[in-house]
Amino acid sequence: MFIKNHFIGDVKMTFEYKIVLFAAASIISFFLTFKPVILPKCACCGKIKLRTLFKLIFHTKRRLTRQGQICVCKSCCDKYNIHSIEDFKRKNEIRKRMEYKNKYI
Ligand SMILES: [Zn+2]
Repeated sequence: MFIKNHFIGDVKMTFEYKIVLFAAASIISFFLTFKPVILPKCACCGKIKLRTLFKLIFHTKRRLTRQGQICVCKSCCDKYNIHSIEDFKRKNEIRKRMEYKNKYI
């Protein structure tokens, strides 16, 4: 069985080709599904990094989205002296208060 492809030409649909197609499709779907788990967003600096570069990861909601978790990367933990979720919340509160003061007072 041949499939006419305008870019490659005639591609024979062998068993190996089907296996490779299935593997590629499953890897892509896995990556798309677990993208916020593999590549979380730092709540401090807002950068998207690999999961191994994060020190603190907290799940706040039972969802597979970036809104359902609070992540702080290792460089932000070293920079702002964050060791737990309470430290991060306090630091966030202070930042918000300072922004408010700069805006209105
Ligand atoms: Zn960060």
